[in-house]
Amino acid sequence: MHTPTTEARPSIYYNYEVFKPWLASAHPKQERQKVVIVGSGPAGMVTALELARHGVPSVVLSAELQLSQGSRAICFTRRSMEILQQVGVADRVTANGLPWRFGNSFYRGQRVFRMEAPHEPDDRFFPIINLQQQYLEEYLYDACKASPLIDFRWGNKVSAVKQKDGHAEVEVATPDGPYTLETDWLIAADGGRSGIRSAMNLPMEGASYEGFFVIADIRIDLPFPTERLAFFDPEWNPGNTILMHREPHGIWRVDYQLPPGETPEEALHPESLKTRINAQLEMIGHAGAPWEMDWSSVYSARTLTLPDFVHGRVIFTGDAAHLLPIFGVRGANTAFQDAQSLGWHLACVVKGLAGPALLQNHSTERVGAAREIIEESGKSTRFMAPPSRGFRLLRDAVLSLSLTQDFVRPLYHWRTSRPHEYTHSALNCRDDDNALFKAGPAHGAPPQNVRLGANDFLLDHLGGSFDLLYFTDTDMPEALQQVIEQARARGMPLKVTAVGTTHCVGGAQQHLPDSDGHMRQRYGVPANGAAYLLRPDQHICARWLSLDATRLQAALTTALPTIG
Ligand SMILES: Cc1cc2nc3c(=O)[nH]c(=O)nc-3n(C[C@H](O)[C@H](O)[C@H](O)COP(=O)(O)OP(=O)(O)OC[C@H]3O[C@@H](n4cnc5c(N)ncnc54)[C@H](O)[C@@H]3O)c2cc1C
Repeated sequence: MHTPTTEARPSIYYNYEVFKPWLASAHPKQERQKVVIVGSGPAGMVTALELARHGVPSVVLSAELQLSQGSRAICFTRRSMEILQQVGVADRVTANGLPWRFGNSFYRGQRVFRMEAPHEPDDRFFPIINLQQQYLEEYLYDACKASPLIDFRWGNKVSAVKQKDGHAEVEVATPDGPYTLETDWLIAADGGRSGIRSAMNLPMEGASYEGFFVIADIRIDLPFPTERLAFFDPEWNPGNTILMHREPHGIWRVDYQLPPGETPEEALHPESLKTRINAQLEMIGHAGAPWEMDWSSVYSARTLTLPDFVHGRVIFTGDAAHLLPIFGVRGANTAFQDAQSLGWHLACVVKGLAGPALLQNHSTERVGAAREIIEESGKSTRFMAPPSRGFRLLRDAVLSLSLTQDFVRPLYHWRTSRPHEYTHSALNCRDDDNALFKAGPAHGAPPQNVRLGANDFLLDHLGGSFDLLYFTDTDMPEALQQVIEQARARGMPLKVTAVGTTHCVGGAQQHLPDSDGHMRQRYGVPANGAAYLLRPDQHICARWLSLDATRLQAALTTALPTIG
């Protein structure tokens, strides 16, 4: 029997709703499912929404009866917002979050670096927006609830997993007893402590760093703008690092490193928290300002990943697949990209448009992303919390020099989470004109957004299928239209957008004007007849200066093997 708590989690700014459990006794007959998702964190819910967008139903099993405790992920990147836009929750995040683009680094009380993240008129979203994870989960849950393709089961905890011939079977504990559920595909989105990963005995590769950080969310009125604040070697916490972020609802996150040897229990003692937060407030000139504690936690940095995310019928995603340090805001932001990738790859397999081998492409690409992030975030982690005397000496040398030398200041750069580029993907076209373009997103890159009007952007019009952007102001040649029709006849979801015209053109489902040529310039398109092919996760897999039917046919076959 599983008895999740029915007491609402404490919070001074968020009202937790306790949802009704899904009870096994009320559903005596369980049919085999196409997809079962274990876990309703950001990874699980975005995967369910992505699958639904591609027409694939799923069951989401959530051990708890409420959303996650504490603010956890608070910084969401522009690419995450573009993904959240696709699943329909970006507007709510924009309406309630705090956007920002500047960061300030201080060393011994002196500001030594001001980071400015680029924000162009072509960007719909800010580089980063701050919002507590519970709110984001609430918006995702509302979207899941609204989808007829998502069967969401609160209070359902997976207690065992078996791989069978061609499917998986899970034992699920509920508040009124267990039941068994069979599924063609099981997605383990059960978080950093994944019970499924442990039960399957899968080792992760990478490193765990020593040293602990405390996260404390406090309600306080501080007159600072929404910018990231980093303090290195401050007087009250010598040799260590402190970060501060503004969150919505009058909350500030204070994130400080502990001296070596201090245990998490000691650090979370109310007196210890109070002394350190007061010291930090005094250092920033707000000694004695009244504040109230909401949530505190301790974490240490880990850079770990499974070397393969697909194991038979079980697919790992989000924190269950990799554990990334929070410096550079990687965890949830990476989970969104995993979910977007998994959604379309798995949908194609479930719908019979491709064989299970396509899932290996998902795994290869996303493990590649995790390894790249591990490499980058390892650098940030070693800067924030040097793991050895050598690293500390180097870090301190950079910090000291930065007081007088401009050239070292950019070394403070935070290396914020950015989308991985699938440059060497097996789905990229091999004989297109990728190398001949002088601008625009190349093979494997995410798309570049383009402003089309006051509140109208290119990415508002793309997604949910493969997208062919065809630059033209006349009808598409017959031969191209035939290749597209043949691909569609075999099930490939493919939408054609004519770019550079104010009227409908033959062969295109929609058209976008480009009267000032700005989009052509952003995409490096010199003349009509050029084209870009985007995968359903919007990454580029082919581009041509001049498209012809033979090369389009080859690109479509490569992008979705077995479909020509
Ligand atoms: C203090 C802190 C600060 C962070 N800050 C940031 C940040 O600023 N930016 C960022 O991008 N990331 C941040 N992260 C990381 C981010 O919170 C995680 O990466 C993100 O929540 C991962 O999502 P997930 O869905 O993979 O896992 P989780 O959010 O952990 O969700 C796992 C889900 O699985 C469920 N579950 C577990 N076991 C079972 C089971 N047996 N049966 C059924 N359900 C089960 C859980 O109840 C939960 O719903 C932070 C994390 C922490 C702890």
